[in-house]
Formats: sequence, structure tokens, C-alpha cells
Amino acid sequence: MPTVTIDYQLCRGAKECGECYHNCPMEVFAVEGDKVVVAQEELCTGCGVCEDLCPTKAIKVKFE
Ligand code: SF4
Ligand code: SF4
Repeated sequence: MPTVTIDYQLCRGAKECGECYHNCPMEVFAVEGDKVVVAQEELCTGCGVCEDLCPTKAIKVKFE
């Protein structure tokens, strides 16, 4: 199962960006205030859409 991590030093937040949250086909992400969080990692298929769309390369999807 893939693991999904967000580097909050790089993430621009849900209001300014939110690309991962809006485009993940499995709805893995959730928004808490202005923070995008990995809420349902177990649903991730490892498609890579979030990594591809993230403008700051804050997301890493890894297969263990
Ligand atoms: S790799 Fe795909 S399914 Fe997994 S969190 Fe990213 S966009 Fe969602
Ligand atoms: S796509 Fe990247 S910068 Fe944008 S909200 Fe997601 S993790 Fe943050």
C-alpha cells in the first residue's frame, strides 16, 4: 500500500493551492482550516496525480 506524505515546509495550503485535495480521484485528502491533510491513506492507489499536480513538490507517494 502506498504511503502519502506532505512536506508542510513546502505546501502552500488549501486556500492558495489545494490541487491535491481537489484532484485526487480517491478523496485521500481532507482540509482542516487551511491545511491539507492525508485523511484516508488506505484508499490511495498510487496513481501519482497529486505528485504531478503539486506545484512545490510537497507530496511524496511511496510504495513500501
Ligand atoms: S497517488 Fe493518486 S490516489 Fe494516491 S493520494 Fe495521490 S492522487 Fe490520490
Ligand atoms: S498540491 Fe502541493 S502545495 Fe498544493 S495543497 Fe497539495 S501539497 Fe500543498
